[in-house]
Amino acid sequence: MSRLSRRTVIRGALAAGGAGLAGAPSLAQELPLTPQCAEEGERTLAQTEGPFFRAGSPERPDLVEPGAKARIVELTGFVLTRGCNPVARAVVDLWHADERGAYDSKGFRYRGRVYTDEKGRYRVRTIQPALYRGRTRHYHVNVAAGGKLLLTTQLYFPDEPANRRDGLFRKELLMQVSKAGDAMAARFDFIVDLRL
Ligand code: FE
Repeated sequence: MSRLSRRTVIRGALAAGGAGLAGAPSLAQELPLTPQCAEEGERTLAQTEGPFFRAGSPERPDLVEPGAKARIVELTGFVLTRGCNPVARAVVDLWHADERGAYDSKGFRYRGRVYTDEKGRYRVRTIQPALYRGRTRHYHVNVAAGGKLLLTTQLYFPDEPANRRDGLFRKELLMQVSKAGDAMAARFDFIVDLRL
C-alpha cells in the first residue's frame, strides 16, 4: 500500500474512532472488520528497545492506574502482514513512562500485553506518558506472533515540540490521534513480516 492510500484509510477509521469516544464504549468496535489495503506495504520501522523493557508483563487491555492524572489514551489498530493480511493472536506488548516520566523498574505499572483478535485488531487503554530527559513523548512496543518477536519499535505523538529535538523520532512512527475532552483516541497499524 502506498503511503498516501494508507493515510487515507487511517483518516477514515479515525473519524469513526473519534465518534466512538463520545458514544460507543469501545473504540475497537469502530475499527473496520478488514483493513483496506491496495498494495504490499512497507514493514513498520524498527527502533531500539531501550533500557526499560521488562519481560513477563501481564496480559490486560487496561493499564490505567487508579487515580492517574494524565490524559487517557485508547490505542487501537491492526497487526498486518506486508500483504495486508490480518495477524490473529499476535502479541502487542506495550511499556512506557508514567505521568511523571518514570518507568516502573520493579513492577509492571504501565506495562502490559494484549492479543489481536481474529481480524488482527488490538486495543489497549492507557495514559499519555510524560516526557523524560532527552526524549520526546513515546510508547515502546514489541510485536510477536507464533512465539517469534517480529518487531520492536516506538510510537510517537503528533504536534509534540520535542519531536524535533529527539534524534530517535521518526515521522513514520507517528500515531494518528484525535482528542475528545480529556481522552485521546490513537491509531497505529503495525506491518510485520512473518518470514522473519
Ligand atoms: Fe522510553
